[in-house]
Amino acid sequence: MAEEPTYDVIIIGGGAAGLAASIYSVRAMLKTLVIERQAIGGQILYTGEVENYPGFPEPIAGPDLAMLYEKQATRFGVEFVYDTITRLELDGPVKKLIGEEGEYTAKAVIITSGGEHNKLEVPGEDEFAGRGVSYCATCDGNFFRDQDVTVVGGGDAAMDEGLYLTRMASSVTVVHRREELRASKILQQRAFDNPKMSFVWNSAIKEIKGDGDVKSIVLENLKTGEISEQDTNGVFVYIGFHPINEFMIGAVNLDAAGHVVTDIQMNTSVPGVFAAGDVRTFSERQLANAVGDGVAAALSAYRYITEG
Ligand SMILES: Cc1cc2nc3c(=O)[nH]c(=O)nc-3n(C[C@H](O)[C@H](O)[C@H](O)COP(=O)(O)OP(=O)(O)OC[C@H]3O[C@@H](n4cnc5c(N)ncnc54)[C@H](O)[C@@H]3O)c2cc1C
Repeated sequence: MAEEPTYDVIIIGGGAAGLAASIYSVRAMLKTLVIERQAIGGQILYTGEVENYPGFPEPIAGPDLAMLYEKQATRFGVEFVYDTITRLELDGPVKKLIGEEGEYTAKAVIITSGGEHNKLEVPGEDEFAGRGVSYCATCDGNFFRDQDVTVVGGGDAAMDEGLYLTRMASSVTVVHRREELRASKILQQRAFDNPKMSFVWNSAIKEIKGDGDVKSIVLENLKTGEISEQDTNGVFVYIGFHPINEFMIGAVNLDAAGHVVTDIQMNTSVPGVFAAGDVRTFSERQLANAVGDGVAAALSAYRYITEG
């Protein structure tokens, strides 16, 4: 006889999608475990303020929102374990998850492993990581009080975090590959209206230089090829995102960019395995979507377990 799994539902990742799924799963009387490799909250921990999440008319700090999700999940009895899942064995009715610290079994699995920032991949980036190079304004912004910082990127995250940095930095220079921003119009307007923000268009960082800490960046104008050097104390990088998927390669179908392929009910290619949030294909990569996906995945897991 097959071994009885320890949990009804195991959720890989304690970000917005995973926590939303956990609340719905445990309230459906399913024994539910969330496995998180770093810190409960995921990307919202790196988000200065969230002001587009319905139900919060005033901006809320990302870490505060993460705390509220966790509090709600804990109140209903969700269990949490800190571990990094490295491999999945998904054949058959008992799904096995192999982590660095242990092995876990469940009837259904919800993958909400999200994603992380892309790196510039230029000389100096690794050398000065934590000493002037950052991917998180909320975490590191305060180290740059009254200093000049550079933000790389032209999307929502770059503008959001650039605007946040204007509160403490004396200037924020945005370096962007194109000559217009991708960010939503309201963020663009705020960035253009902010006297502390300036823009270097059609340019890319070729090198980050310093002496213990960051002192300057080498820029290439992508239209003219001109190389220049500009002083800066900090470089905040927001140039895109990739899904975290190493542990599931070969276990579920992924799209060309490495996102988990799901249908509208969050079913993956494997029965009893669901995916939600930023890791799934066609995600809008917004909190509200991650939460909605998590709910849909939990309800699908409930139907899978109870209806077979
Ligand atoms: C700087 C920034 C600003 C943003 N601002 C906004 C905003 O204003 N409004 C908005 O709606 N959205 C915003 N977003 C996007 C929003 O934060 C994300 O869409 C949302 O948090 C995604 O949630 P998720 O649960 O899918 O993934 P994540 O938040 O990425 O969570 C995934 C979790 O899984 C864990 N994990 C990964 N692999 C493993 C493994 N192998 N084992 C165990 N655990 C694992 C990770 O550690 C992580 O905690 C912002 C994002 C960033 C980066």
